[in-house]
Amino acid sequence: MAEKSTSVNSIKPGTRVRVRFAPSPTGYLHVGGARSALFNFLFARRYGGDFLLRIEDTDRSRFVEDALTEIYDSLRWLGLDWDEGPEKGGPCASYIQSERLDIYNEMADALINTNFAYPCFCTAERLAEVRAEQEKSGGATGYDRHCRELPAGAVEENLKNNVPHVVRFKIPLAGKVEFDDLIRGKIEYRCDVLDDFVLIKTDKFPTYHMANVVDDRDMKITHVLRGDEWIASTPRHVLLYEAFGWEAPAFAHLPVILAPDGGKLSKRKGAASVMDYKRAGFLPEALFNFLALLGWAPGDDREKMSVEELTAAFSLEQVSPKASVLDEKKLEWMNGLYMAERPSESLVEEVLPAWKERGWISDSRSTIEHAVKVIDLLKVRSRRVTELIDSAACFFVDPTEYEEKAAKKHFNAEAAQRLSLISGELETIDDFAHTKLEELYRNISESQSIPIGSLIPQTRLAISGVTNGPGLFEMMEAIGKENVLRRISTVIKMLS
Ligand code: GLU
Repeated sequence: MAEKSTSVNSIKPGTRVRVRFAPSPTGYLHVGGARSALFNFLFARRYGGDFLLRIEDTDRSRFVEDALTEIYDSLRWLGLDWDEGPEKGGPCASYIQSERLDIYNEMADALINTNFAYPCFCTAERLAEVRAEQEKSGGATGYDRHCRELPAGAVEENLKNNVPHVVRFKIPLAGKVEFDDLIRGKIEYRCDVLDDFVLIKTDKFPTYHMANVVDDRDMKITHVLRGDEWIASTPRHVLLYEAFGWEAPAFAHLPVILAPDGGKLSKRKGAASVMDYKRAGFLPEALFNFLALLGWAPGDDREKMSVEELTAAFSLEQVSPKASVLDEKKLEWMNGLYMAERPSESLVEEVLPAWKERGWISDSRSTIEHAVKVIDLLKVRSRRVTELIDSAACFFVDPTEYEEKAAKKHFNAEAAQRLSLISGELETIDDFAHTKLEELYRNISESQSIPIGSLIPQTRLAISGVTNGPGLFEMMEAIGKENVLRRISTVIKMLS
């Protein structure tokens, strides 16, 4: 692919790209958030920049206690390690907004001094009354700017008396605010649709707008890549940058992710947390690849791409402004590809705890070796780790039931006799390797004139209880001679 001109992504020559993922710890990291983090990560890696993690925890009422650890764990599990941020540090520490309150309050004072902001002493009751009035008259709702032009003396008096107040931004009364979105192009808002939003709340905590802008500036963020739902906040941010006299970063709002049926993502429809995907048996590398393709494409027909390939190909130019649909079938398909190529040794830790819990396996060295063999056989036919876990039963425990339809067909009149014959032959071989087993079955088939295609499903059903699974001879090797013979003998007894 041709090298992208960096100007398209608005990287100024000589500037180091710095991007951030800035989650609010109001819940777990879900796919939408993970996709934003991932695009930031790829963008930073693509242009040799820095990927920061910043925690936007200034809305204390929505703070969820264990959200932070879960966010960190989810990002790390996906391989989205941050260059600067919590638990890592960096030149702009702290990266947690609740630890930076002084900075925001200082900055708000600066805006009051330059007449871009003002303290507002309106009580919650008054605001509610204003709102009710506005709703009754059917007009636009929003702060009526009551405190915007309070006489200096009154302000001073109130401040001296510690009257609770917020700090509000003075939206220009006319004109418009515009910005270039790297994905959607020019976006314009009329100032008269924006109200004098709050910068600092009565508890001295900043609002999202204030803290976000101050930190992006302080942390030298060059590009803000975030979900579409933040687009309506951007005009406020742009006005704040102007008021401070700062240059705004470049903005890129990522397309909405829709549920498989085209509706909104919800807990029931795809909006699961990253850790839910882990628990559902997906591999991080598959989820990584899948998320990268939610709204972005390399511009050729590649779909399965490694982190390195994704990094080399990523650019904002190829991010579509159109909504993308979360197709779980595609994720499963992709996960299957990654399962097949994962070294079995590395899948052991994913499956062993579940197998142990079911009492199928213990901890000894030989069981690990056995587990690796089983995984070798199953991983190529499993779309999820959970599927691999479940389908392994026959390698560890004797079947207690047999597929009904298949049993009718294969456990027929000659079955007991044939299985006895096979069992007798199996007794004679010491090397229970799949190649030897195959040879043996071919010989039986020839000498007895029984098609091998009817011998195989019969044995398979007898030793596993089901008719599908990996190659029979590999499976027999992994199950082991003693177990195979016992299982066959159980069926013979059952049939006679
Ligand atoms: N704290 C916001 C969130 O939870 C960040 C939005 C942004 O990236 O500016 O998504």
